[in-house]
Amino acid sequence: DYPRSYRGRFAPSPSGPLHAGSLVAALGSFLDARAHRGKWLVRIEDIDPPREIPGAADTILQQLEAHGLLWDETVSWQSQNSERYEYWLARLSAESLSYCCTCTRAEIKARGEQYDGHCRFLKRGAEGAAVRLINENPIRYLHDRWHGRVELAPAQAAEDFVLRRRDGFWAYQLAVVSDDYASGITDIVRGEDLLHASGWQLTLWQQFNQLQHANTSLDSATNIAKPLPRLGHLPLVFGEDGRKLSKQNHAQALGNKEAKANLAAATQALGLTLPDISNFESISAYLAAATESWRENRLNSAN
Ligand code: GLU
Ligand code: ZN
Repeated sequence: DYPRSYRGRFAPSPSGPLHAGSLVAALGSFLDARAHRGKWLVRIEDIDPPREIPGAADTILQQLEAHGLLWDETVSWQSQNSERYEYWLARLSAESLSYCCTCTRAEIKARGEQYDGHCRFLKRGAEGAAVRLINENPIRYLHDRWHGRVELAPAQAAEDFVLRRRDGFWAYQLAVVSDDYASGITDIVRGEDLLHASGWQLTLWQQFNQLQHANTSLDSATNIAKPLPRLGHLPLVFGEDGRKLSKQNHAQALGNKEAKANLAAATQALGLTLPDISNFESISAYLAAATESWRENRLNSAN
């Protein structure tokens, strides 16, 4: 049996409604949580106002409900968690584990594929600067529950990735890890497109543990390191044009009236074989059967 009480999550960005690809990620993480008799949380990642579509967050929540993907705790909103991000950024900075970087995208690109640590020792001012992690201890490979050991591209894994953007917005990696860490997430099930982000996030999680460990002002109960979350990456869904379905490619929004057909396609994309959905009296009955199928097919291969 899984030793810790399972806590998983689905973390959509409100840059558009859910499409067939995001449904696969939502359903995969949902079924995995159900199959473990764990909790499934939903977090709206609304920290990128320039890319946010007004109303998309509400649309996403309605889509999840219409597809029977009901979350267990109050929905959390990253836009309300900035104190948490400030806290971790201040901790990293106090330990000299971060620095300001004023390089533009064009300057970075002109020097090579990855950010080269150019500003690490240049003591840049904070004005108009991004904040980057001094990535001294990069996670270079990770264990994926279904793919086994996955090597990450070395240069990318070791990059001093961004914690706060030049435009002042929080970087995705810092926000995700701060929140997953705070909500005690044990398991992350997400699309394969986030494999590299997963590596960076484990690196940051490990760094948070070290900071907590060094923090003698915390009592010993608070001071316990949080085990790195387990990871599983799901296959992506491709459109007829061969491109990954994504909000950027304007993938079609999921229609709530077609919830059953959408779910049938998503379970198929997850490799589950189930009787035709028309045989089920309700969406929740279908999801119960899908959970059983997930338990049989996806849990045994774990670790
Ligand atoms: N909000 C991001 C996305 O929609 C991240 C999801 C995650 O961390 O799994 O792609
Ligand atoms: Zn720089």
